[in-house]
Amino acid sequence: MTQTHTTNNTQVWASNKYAKVVHEAIEAASNELRSLSLKVHPCNTALSFDSELFKITNMLISISKRLTPIQIHDHPELALKEFKAHAWLTGYLRSNGFAVEQGLSGLETAFVAEAGNPHGQVTIGICSEYDALPGIGHACGHNLIAISGVATALGLKAAIEQFGLPAKIKLFGTPAEERDAGKITMLNAGDFKDVEVCMMLHGANADVIHTQFLSLQTVTVEYFGKASHASTTPWEGINALDAAMQVYTAIGLMRQQMPPDQRVHGIIQDGGQAANIIPQYTRSVYTVRAPKYEQVKELKTKVEHIFEAAARSTRCTHKVFWGKHIKDIQTNGPLADKFEYLMNGLGLEYSPKLEQQSKLSGSTDMGNLTYAMPGIHPMYNIINLDGIDDNSLGLHTKEFAAAAADTVGHAATIRVAKALAMTGVECILNSAFLRRVKDEFHSQDQ
Ligand SMILES: [Zn+2]
Ligand SMILES: [Zn+2]
Repeated sequence: MTQTHTTNNTQVWASNKYAKVVHEAIEAASNELRSLSLKVHPCNTALSFDSELFKITNMLISISKRLTPIQIHDHPELALKEFKAHAWLTGYLRSNGFAVEQGLSGLETAFVAEAGNPHGQVTIGICSEYDALPGIGHACGHNLIAISGVATALGLKAAIEQFGLPAKIKLFGTPAEERDAGKITMLNAGDFKDVEVCMMLHGANADVIHTQFLSLQTVTVEYFGKASHASTTPWEGINALDAAMQVYTAIGLMRQQMPPDQRVHGIIQDGGQAANIIPQYTRSVYTVRAPKYEQVKELKTKVEHIFEAAARSTRCTHKVFWGKHIKDIQTNGPLADKFEYLMNGLGLEYSPKLEQQSKLSGSTDMGNLTYAMPGIHPMYNIINLDGIDDNSLGLHTKEFAAAAADTVGHAATIRVAKALAMTGVECILNSAFLRRVKDEFHSQDQ
């Protein structure tokens, strides 16, 4: 459990002219972003007159019709079907002076929104996600990620324009994080090629900058044999299920020699059609996971040897299809330190790095971006603003989806967006800092 801390390190926010502009720009957009993020009930008579939601609701009644009804949380859309969220976000960004390109790399629901100095020497990339989960809606809080990116971009845009900074901001709308790793498609297509650093935020039940994300790759293996009558002429068949079973067993045996932080797990998706037919076709799916990208590559080779051995010993032929390789996150030290320093100034202190690494896990396509350019992916607590972990409320649950619609989650999002925007401003203003960011990136695993 993280302790609650207070801090008096607010000078960075009180005395810095750039921070003041970032703060004001994001605060000014906060209510509009809340209506982007979730449904607000203007006629909810159950609200007390002095409640925060009532005040926001009153403000919303007077704002432009273009912002209502824009409610990503209440319209959860699955991977690559995020049409409403895509339209609402791009419409909002256009109305706030961003040049928006809709649809990238063959992904209809991707976008890039650009602002700042077109000849800027530094380009800061930020990512917004907005896909939901089947059956449980925004249980990963991507409605909040969506507006965290917009808020960060608005803050950076204000600072760049007000002070004529030689920089550009690119906000990337990256669809299908949960299922199809949209960022990898966009990265491979070159959408991020001129970005110096790329950063994003993710809601959670704890405040963690140094999350230990796992690298993973999913594989489908098919075996092709020969059908025959399982009773009258089984010797004429070539049993594809035998191959699938050998793989399942051999992977189970291999686990004894695997380090405890690595995983191979899977299912037999198609094991045959009838008990009285020797199966001529089987299909199995496995996921290979390890903390680092290089370890997954080693594990893949072992798994492929098992696939080949099963084919040879059963006289089957086989085909192997590897899915996208999701890499772990390489958290850039200088960017992380700067973000933490700025969050300290907003009243939040983090537990030590090693403790943070043990708190949250998972996998994200943002990992691949951190192998292509310096980046960070801070997780932030949407349950409370006090730095107190809430282990009773995990991601991908209905309860977390409810928290992602709460005023606290919104306030937490606005707070972290300010720190992320100012981390970007530091990259623009301080060339020595940006050099350190890049030097560390080049010294990392590639
Ligand atoms: Zn998720
Ligand atoms: Zn997520």
